[in-house]
Amino acid sequence: MGVIVEAKGLTKQFYCGEVTVNALNGVDFTIDEGELIVILGPSGSGKSTMVNIIGGIDMLTQGELYYNGMPLHGLNRNKLTEYRRDHIGFIFQFYNLMPNLTALENVDLAGQLSANPLNSMELISKVGLKGKEDNYPSQMSGGQQQRVAIARAICKNPDLLLCDEPTGALDIRTGVEILDLLMEFNREYRKTVVIITHNADIAQIADRTFYFRDGKIEKIVKNSHPLKTSEVNW
Ligand code: ADP
Ligand code: MG
Repeated sequence: MGVIVEAKGLTKQFYCGEVTVNALNGVDFTIDEGELIVILGPSGSGKSTMVNIIGGIDMLTQGELYYNGMPLHGLNRNKLTEYRRDHIGFIFQFYNLMPNLTALENVDLAGQLSANPLNSMELISKVGLKGKEDNYPSQMSGGQQQRVAIARAICKNPDLLLCDEPTGALDIRTGVEILDLLMEFNREYRKTVVIITHNADIAQIADRTFYFRDGKIEKIVKNSHPLKTSEVNW
């Protein structure tokens, strides 16, 4: 399995008027194709910034970043958008569904932007929403909306799925069901998945865990025996 993402000296500063915020202070790592990575760390330690830069939502200030050997650090906004559309799926804490579209329409919309989409109705079934495909987001629970968001992200058939606190708004049991779906995408489709979380227990399902602190990776821990969610004592 090859390296899908490589970062060298990744640095990000935000300029807010007179103030400069050092969000990332020289971060180095590689992520292998097919890995499940969990990112832990206190609030404000740079986790979202890092994932947004990997996903082409945000631009880095300094350093090098490669996707399958292709440099992302030189790309302009348009090229980054193209890169994101072709390769990246995003899942956020708050599902960001289109309120005036049904579950199925939300998933289809994402599929239409992809060259190689998966079947949207099959995905709706896979995430356990068969029969709910014509519901609008307001007619679904938080867990159900997050399932739609997952189906939407996966429908594009992305090579890299980036999840920023995907279970943060859900109760433990619903959160575990969401993690199962993410793990299934990782294992069955052999896709790379990155999950940011506040819940240290989730590290037990990861291949590796990156611990962030003060805009740096404090340590990377490899897990030789990742657990299934059913084996974790939540
Ligand atoms: P985390 O996801 O670990 O909570 P973030 O990556 O969101 O951390 O934030 C890292 C630092 O960068 C924080 O100090 C945060 O306030 C700052 N930051 C994040 N996004 C912006 C932005 N758009 N403008 C200014 N500062 C930002
Ligand atoms: Mg964050």
